[in-house]
Amino acid sequence: MTIIKTFGNLIAFIRTVQANARTVGFVPTMGALHEGHLALVRQANAIAHYTVVSIFVNPTQFNEEKDLDNYPRTIAADIQQLEQVGVDVLFLPTTQEIYPTHLPPLPAFDFGELSMLLEGAYRPGHFDGVVQVMHRFLDQLQPDWVFMGLKDYQQQLIIQNLLEQMPIRTKLMPCAIVREESGLAMSSRNQLLTTKQRNTARQIYATLQAAKSQMGLVAFEQIESKAIQALTSVGFEVDYFAIVDPATLTKPSHSDQFPVLICVAAWLSGIRLIDNLLVETKASNGQSARLVVSDTATY
Ligand code: AMP
Repeated sequence: MTIIKTFGNLIAFIRTVQANARTVGFVPTMGALHEGHLALVRQANAIAHYTVVSIFVNPTQFNEEKDLDNYPRTIAADIQQLEQVGVDVLFLPTTQEIYPTHLPPLPAFDFGELSMLLEGAYRPGHFDGVVQVMHRFLDQLQPDWVFMGLKDYQQQLIIQNLLEQMPIRTKLMPCAIVREESGLAMSSRNQLLTTKQRNTARQIYATLQAAKSQMGLVAFEQIESKAIQALTSVGFEVDYFAIVDPATLTKPSHSDQFPVLICVAAWLSGIRLIDNLLVETKASNGQSARLVVSDTATY
């Protein structure tokens, strides 16, 4: 694996590959790598001839300085994992490389409501930072593919939309959420959880599953409020637990509309976790299963 630190060198590599009718898959990350990231890399390896992974903790997408300071950084272990999984290039730019002093202003992109709902509402400015860094990467590198996780569903939807507004041919490949055995969606932030908190954190997925089992049997609003109650009762502070249209992220007009996406963002002891679950059709057994969500909260 070659480590490249400047756009100039990476662009030269990518253009040479593409001039030889070979393709480049790009996997942008903020490091502290886990199996979720590695699944993206494996998919890139399977689809593209060459895989480029970037590690850059983008300061402009953090809306709290404390969150940026606390973000886990494990570069030595990351390099080892990327070597093992088989990556061609690791791009490790400095902040100055990404945001040089005389960077031209970002073109005006229009995401409509997409960037204002859910994460957009709870993390003001977050998607501005994500779009800023992703535009810089995509505009400069123009890989054939960019691989992004459905764990950050809204993010990949916005980048999909960004690509449609950019004059480049890069295609986005959305990749399935990788979970721990407990169901907890893998996340770099999980490293900040104690064993006890990790045990509680699994309730997020249990609650998503419980909500799914109620689909078509109970009104969406009722499912949402019960889920918030269940999570709150085990110690979460819930930003949102929302059933939305997966294409627009807006509220479905009625409780018989499918597919839907169930999205959740919740705090556990100062750590913010997000997850989501796509539901294609209503619960198939036609019965309202009484699901135990935790010791204290039941449906
Ligand atoms: P991050 O390093 O958190 O910015 O994530 C880099 C990429 O990995 C993003 O496209 C994420 O959506 C993706 N990702 C993170 N966690 C997971 C996961 N558990 N499953 C699938 N993709 C993930």
